[in-house]
Amino acid sequence: MAIQKHDNLINGQWVAGAKYAPNINPSNLADVIGDYTQADAAQLDGAVKAARAAFPAWSTGNIQARADALDKIGSEILARREELGTLLAREEGKTKPEGIGEATRAGNIFKFFAGECLRLTGEVVPSVRSGVSVEITREPVGVIGLITPWNFPIAIPAWKTAPALAYGNCVILKPADLVPGCAWALADIISRSGIPAGVFNLVMGRGSVIGDPLVTHPGIDAISFTGSQSVGARIAQQCAVNLKKVQLEMGGKNPQVILDDADLAQAVELSVQSAFFSTGQRCTAASRLIVTEGIYPRFIEAMKQRMASLKVGDALAAGIDIGPVSSQAQLEQDLSYVEIGQAEGAVLVAGGQRVTCSTEGFYMVPALLTDTTAGMRINREEVFGPVASIIRVKGYEEALAESNNTPYGLSAGIATTSLKHASHFKRHSQAGMVMVNLPTAGVDYHVPFGGRKGSSYGSREQGRYAQEFFTTVKTSYIGS
Ligand code: NAP
Repeated sequence: MAIQKHDNLINGQWVAGAKYAPNINPSNLADVIGDYTQADAAQLDGAVKAARAAFPAWSTGNIQARADALDKIGSEILARREELGTLLAREEGKTKPEGIGEATRAGNIFKFFAGECLRLTGEVVPSVRSGVSVEITREPVGVIGLITPWNFPIAIPAWKTAPALAYGNCVILKPADLVPGCAWALADIISRSGIPAGVFNLVMGRGSVIGDPLVTHPGIDAISFTGSQSVGARIAQQCAVNLKKVQLEMGGKNPQVILDDADLAQAVELSVQSAFFSTGQRCTAASRLIVTEGIYPRFIEAMKQRMASLKVGDALAAGIDIGPVSSQAQLEQDLSYVEIGQAEGAVLVAGGQRVTCSTEGFYMVPALLTDTTAGMRINREEVFGPVASIIRVKGYEEALAESNNTPYGLSAGIATTSLKHASHFKRHSQAGMVMVNLPTAGVDYHVPFGGRKGSSYGSREQGRYAQEFFTTVKTSYIGS
């Protein structure tokens, strides 16, 4: 069967770029999902011009029409969640149930922001001058560049695109080059939703080629980026020089604290989920398991037993717990950190090796390292794979200090039956999201998502808090 070609969506038209790149299934390197075009700077410029031309009418247009279009997009994603979740599993390597879960989340996000189109409010306040009133309103920002990573190929494009459109902005979406399939499917759905040409544009291609032209283009008013800290910091600098609004969601080195009084079975289950589900390729993955000494030996034994039952394999096969790593480069990085950890003195007590399955793919058994200390690279740097390390601490105070001992601050979890410790941890954790007796992932789509310190920069994403980034405030004074 001929491999299907997929083009960019610019001004409502499907437009081929100069060349195509294959999208390859990490569970089976012989499986090519499709060929996806690669834009250049000239094509990107065309997309920005189309978005600028569409902005005046879209930003002042009828909000019921906007809500209806977003609702239609959400409905189609939900109706096709199984198919889209399968595509996601095939291109990114999450298991099929995880892929369907992510597609469902994307659909729900569009439904949520369909409602938000009608809920934007302002304020009328009295003036300090007689006969004058003051109105505070929110208006769209303009044309927004959305740059997304490979690990959530439909949810992150959705959680940036839906609020951008809901609040009246036009969009240029640049998805990760590794996984353009879900973003293309989303663009296809948006193109049939009734949203006018030019309001939403998809421009695929490598960040190294079209990243700079997108971020520095004078026709782009703001950039919402999710990805690595190194790329994010560079984008923030470029936006500062060009005085653009910017929002960055970046990496994590998330802690999961296990206290002596934790329910052992629950602590093990949530640690395995936090560290290894989605192949550990989540910004919210817990990679530092901080365990107090009373439960330490029992916790390690129970973790080893639970990890032995994890099935690694083809993301589309039934009964698989852990799909492949997303790429050769990521696999090499994961395996190298297992070696780095051991060279630093850590003990590998489970997994950590490549594994072969019936198809050729990037398979790795989740790794658990013990006897690690806070200063080791394995506890400072984001691995972004199924690799977790255990840090042994005396008690709660040390556990809290250790959990905050990181340049990152995205998510943090605690497993405990003590209300006192749970409450104290909630207040004193330096993370943007705190989980008590739950895995570290930020699951709910209607509440803010984001971190502190080196994990995030700018205002929060998702839920009503998305207004902060995707609108700008105007103060109007009205005299008599
Ligand atoms: P990445 O390498 O930083 O890439 C992210 C996006 O930026 C991709 O679309 C990439 O394009 C693009 N890009 C690369 N260079 C660029 C440049 N010079 N200018 C503009 N754009 C450029 O990150 P990744 O490997 O895809 O994703 C993994 C990272 O994302 C991890 O650090 C993870 O923690 C983080 N993440 C954070 C969150 C959160 O909400 N905090 C959520 C998910 C993931 P190419 O694909 O062509 O390189």
